[in-house]
Amino acid sequence: MRLVIIGPPGAGKGTQAERLAEQLDVPHISTGDLFRSNLRDRTALGLQAKQYMDAGELVPGDLTVAMVHRRLVEEPGGFILDGFPRTPDQARALESMLAEMGSKLDAVVGFVVPEAVLVQRMLERGRTDDTEEVIRRRLEVYRQETEPLLRFYGDQVISIDAVGTVEEITHRVLDALRSSSRRTTDVR
Ligand code: AMP
Repeated sequence: MRLVIIGPPGAGKGTQAERLAEQLDVPHISTGDLFRSNLRDRTALGLQAKQYMDAGELVPGDLTVAMVHRRLVEEPGGFILDGFPRTPDQARALESMLAEMGSKLDAVVGFVVPEAVLVQRMLERGRTDDTEEVIRRRLEVYRQETEPLLRFYGDQVISIDAVGTVEEITHRVLDALRSSSRRTTDVR
């Protein structure tokens, strides 16, 4: 299973990606987590990414794409990508990486959550980049840079109402993936 999860900051992508990865037995790849672990290890990449993360801006695409490429080559096979792609350019880069490896995405899941819920969730999780000002900026960046991705993927996007308990949302995604794979199989 090669799955991408798209959604605004605070939508619960990380939590769900982790649970889904376990259920579907594929690795969970989070670009935010990869940047944070680079930062903890004080690598050059981590130090470069820090200024963007602290400001709620996107880390430049070439750095991000190179990091994802390394990760995908390291462990070819299925994955759940969380936080990547975040722009149509990154989506195109992902398509060519996968084509190079002779594969393609199986599904794109889009999480839908009202903005007031997002802000509340982010304030509650208390990450260092979760101050009110940075949260506002991340939401703006999402609308400008990431929302166009939903148009890029078009009909491929399986929209999920991501308000509810953690368990409910995991079930919704798994059910939706099952029925979409049934539909795809029917068509073939
Ligand atoms: P996240 O954990 O997904 O909320 O990501 C935290 C921060 O890492 C974001 O605010 C960005 O600064 C950076 N980041 C994560 N993924 C990407 C990406 N695909 N492109 C650019 N920056 C990213």
